[in-house]
Amino acid sequence: MIRPAKAGPAAYAPIGGGWQEGFRAAAAPLPRPPQIPIFGGMRASQILHTRPEGLYCPVGDFFIDPVRPVKRALITHGHSDHARAGHGKVLATQETLDVMRLRYGDGFAGETQAAAFGEEFRIGDARVAFHPAGHVLGSAQIAVSAGGLCIVASGDYKRAADPTTPGFEVVPCDVFITEATFGLPVFRHPDAASEIDRLLASLKEFPERTHIVGAYALGKAQRVIRLLRDRGYGRPIFIHGALQKLCDYYASRGIDLGELRPATVEAGGRQDFAGEIVVGTPAAFADRWARRFADPVACFASGWMRIRQRAKQRGVELPLIISDHSDWDELTRTIADTGAREVWVTHGREEALARWCELNGIAARPLHLVGYEDEGD
Ligand SMILES: [Zn+2]
Repeated sequence: MIRPAKAGPAAYAPIGGGWQEGFRAAAAPLPRPPQIPIFGGMRASQILHTRPEGLYCPVGDFFIDPVRPVKRALITHGHSDHARAGHGKVLATQETLDVMRLRYGDGFAGETQAAAFGEEFRIGDARVAFHPAGHVLGSAQIAVSAGGLCIVASGDYKRAADPTTPGFEVVPCDVFITEATFGLPVFRHPDAASEIDRLLASLKEFPERTHIVGAYALGKAQRVIRLLRDRGYGRPIFIHGALQKLCDYYASRGIDLGELRPATVEAGGRQDFAGEIVVGTPAAFADRWARRFADPVACFASGWMRIRQRAKQRGVELPLIISDHSDWDELTRTIADTGAREVWVTHGREEALARWCELNGIAARPLHLVGYEDEGD
């Protein structure tokens, strides 16, 4: 049974003194847990294992990023495949809770609780803490400790700098659960700023055309806009209506996106957007909406733009390789950085990354979780 919502102290008791302590703790990673043999004492699978609903922690009786409604859910970030509505109780960062509320409405969960980075909670016999994942605003890795073992479920993450989200923090652990969206050596993302420079160069070359940039609504769109500002682009940027709420939210969290205007075609003639940058969601991009603009240059910002065929399929003229996921080098570097002796690989190219781990003396196995098709690649 879940206890009814009540005001006051956190329902999951923070360990060691609450909010302020939690924020201070975020500055320094948690100390490495004592070195206990992985299959001595508590087995890793007793702390986390897969169920049809998602990754389950029996000692704490909660799920991480469940794909079906459950009693208690810990959510890594707001992308819709990880953050679903209908759970009894949700523990997530404030930003992730806010994003869920924006997307699903006030009643998206029976009860919610915000976790600050570094703050520790006790849930049943498990201790959990959220740490920055660098994927999108509010994204977190979730460290789960019990019986002397620490497992980090990293959700989606990247190591590349991103002005719209706190940077990834390495959390030493025994078992590291990693995504593998771009888990092949062929995936090496270029510097995002240089991709933005290609967009600006094209804008200069074709001043009579509208540059339409397809970008995922949470994270990618705001990152592209912020990067444009960082590269000196000061003109208003036009956005599809589906981006408005999330862009406003990012701005309210102190991420300055400059002047944004609605890209409402009906409001003006075709030529209104000539020479301008218009950012739209992938759905809008695929829609007739995108073809209403003046001689559009179709641009798309995604790690998949590395694959020429993918760009072609989407009808993309100017592919921008900008990803919110780790590329091959980031994945392998991160696995090494965590010091994990075992790696569980999920959504993506599980086999290749698991093989890399084995070749490097790290036990690894694919974790066959279903239901994740990231909206923010
Ligand atoms: Zn994601």
